[in-house]
Amino acid sequence: MLKIENLHAGVEDKSILKGINLEVKAGEVHAIMGPNGSGKSTLSSVIAGKEEYEVSEGSIIFEGEDIEELEADERAHKGIFLSFQYPVEIPGVSVTNFIKTAINETRKAKGLEEMPAKDMLKLIREKSDLLEIDRKFLSRSLNEGFSGGEKKRNEIFQMAMLEPKLAILDETDSGLDIDALRIVANGVNKLKSKNNAVIVITHYQRLLDYIVPDYVHVLHDGKIVKSGSKELAHELEEKGYDWIKEEVGV
Ligand code: ADP
Ligand code: MG
Ligand code: MG
Repeated sequence: MLKIENLHAGVEDKSILKGINLEVKAGEVHAIMGPNGSGKSTLSSVIAGKEEYEVSEGSIIFEGEDIEELEADERAHKGIFLSFQYPVEIPGVSVTNFIKTAINETRKAKGLEEMPAKDMLKLIREKSDLLEIDRKFLSRSLNEGFSGGEKKRNEIFQMAMLEPKLAILDETDSGLDIDALRIVANGVNKLKSKNNAVIVITHYQRLLDYIVPDYVHVLHDGKIVKSGSKELAHELEEKGYDWIKEEVGV
């Protein structure tokens, strides 16, 4: 599904990613861990196509296509979802109306007609029931006064509705409490299938107690310095990151 080869990227003169290689297949959950400032968020932004980052070398192949030249919204339409892509507060626009628009824009980009209102309603019911989201929540104004947990609930609901092929969840928020962690984990676990893939980015091992990854990668100074199974996350929790630096000699 996703193949990243020798990816170098950064901003202006600053190089941040220094040769990333990563392959993600359908049905897999990958966790990317690493200390603050190692480039985790940059990697997710570069995959999603955020404009502020320049790719200087390497390639990102998504479903056999080099996506380098595609804009962020074109990548989203192809099925790449990045959490917190829409963090804006929009008073007067509900969680539901926002997602309806997003879905219809995606359909339009594919040359499809708008989803009939009846089908949309059915989809909203199905997904909100699956995720145990209160109907009242769906009529709240987007992000307005949302708690950490509610922001996560909204994100996971967007993910459920858009049914991305590749979901990238960048858990940047240091204020992630247990409630929010559970919402994210529950959503990922319910939505994962053999046809989609998930990349979870975190520096908290805790999240991985709830989402069990197939692979764990450790990012250090813009490179993946170690990859392993979920056991690697436990090792990191026990021993921190320093032993990896020593082991790989960085
Ligand atoms: P992480 O998510 O692992 O904490 P980031 O990807 O946010 O790391 O950042 C990696 C490094 O790149 C940091 O030194 C950060 O300051 C820098 N960086 C990231 N984005 C930008 C940007 N837009 N402009 C300047 N420096 C940036
Ligand atoms: Mg980050
Ligand atoms: Mg670009």
